[in-house]
Order: sequence, then C-alpha cells, then structure tokens
Amino acid sequence: MNIFAILFWLGLILQVIIRSPFDRAQRKEKKIIQLKTKLENILLVMLTLGGLVLPFIYSFTNLIVFANFSLPTWSQWFGAFLLASGILFFWRSHLDLGINWSPSLEIREKHNLVTHGIYKRIRHPMYTSLWIMSLAQPLLLPNWISGFGNLVFFIPFYFFRVSEEEKMMTETFGKEYEEYVQKTGSIFPKLRF
Ligand code: SAH
Repeated sequence: MNIFAILFWLGLILQVIIRSPFDRAQRKEKKIIQLKTKLENILLVMLTLGGLVLPFIYSFTNLIVFANFSLPTWSQWFGAFLLASGILFFWRSHLDLGINWSPSLEIREKHNLVTHGIYKRIRHPMYTSLWIMSLAQPLLLPNWISGFGNLVFFIPFYFFRVSEEEKMMTETFGKEYEEYVQKTGSIFPKLRF
C-alpha cells in the first residue's frame, strides 16, 4: 500500500473516532421524528460499498488492478490536502451540531436548531465535508472503480438527503428555519454583494 492509500485509511479511522462519542450520545435520545425510508437505506448501503468495500478491495487485493490509472504525485498530495480539509469540516460540524446529529433524518424530543459556529454561514457543513472527501478519494486511490465508487453514490444521496432534510427542518422549526435558510448557504457560505 502506498502513502496515499495509507492516508485514506487514516482519514476513515479519524472519522470513526470523531463520530463515535456523538453516535453513542444520540442513541440515548428520545426521537419524535424518524424518517428512514427504503431508498435511504439502499443509498447508505451503496455508500458503504463505495467508501469502504471498494477501497478495501483496491488496497488489499489484486482484483481491480486492471482499473488503475496513474496521476502526478502533486495531484495526489492535493488529494491529501483535500482529505485533511474534509476531516476538519467533519470535526467542526460534529462539535457544533453536538447531540442534534443523527445518522438518518431524525428530530429528537429536545431538538435545538443550531445556528452558531460553522452553522452560522453554512446549513450543511457535514455534507460539505463528505463532498470534499469524496473528491479526494480518486486522487488518493487512483482506480476507476474504487476511486469514484464513493462519489457515484454520494451524488444521488446528497440531493435526496438535503431536500428531505430541509423539508423536515421547516416542518419542525417553521419560520425560524426559513429565516435561517435566508441567511446561510447550503454547502458553501452565502456570497454577499
Ligand atoms: N445537514 C447537516 C446535518 C447532517 S446530520 C450538515 O450537513 O451539517 C442530519 C441531522 O442533523 C438531521 O436528522 C437533523 O435533525 C439535524 N440537523 C440538520 N441541520 C440542523 C441544524 N441546523 N440544527 C439542528 N439540527 C440539525
């Protein structure tokens, strides 16, 4: 395994470490809305395939070497930079969202609308981090199958998720969320002219 594949796996381990205390805490919370659909379940399985299983096959077997491509080393270092930025966004959004985080679309009994920290400018910084890390993957794992495996499934997941999530948040928080939407960008800060 080369240095870039090692960095990819370190990135995954860091994501698990960052997420696990929030995951443990949110499991204990009483939920008043849970919107786990069949489509979301299928997309989550596909994301696991693209983000974990295919990288594993690429890193630890010879089964998909035929799909390897080569990249200049500088572009792979750029991939490492993207991964590090993605991890930073991932960490910061977990810190700010705290106990309000959930793996699928849920509202807990004492849910707070978070509008501080990174959420002051962006509504979906965790999805920003997932975009950045999905774009880093083909640079770190230069293989047509494992490199793009995550991005291919993340794109439909993202569009489905964001529209369902914003609908749920508007139904729960009403005007407060609508006003928040006006002030923020979705995955990039809103440009002000
Ligand atoms: N879309 C956000 C959060 C992803 S986690 C991001 O990308 O950072 C998904 C859960 O976060 C949803 O179930 C929802 O209940 C919760 N959530 C999303 N935005 C929130 C906000 N501004 N305040 C509180 N909870 C929020």
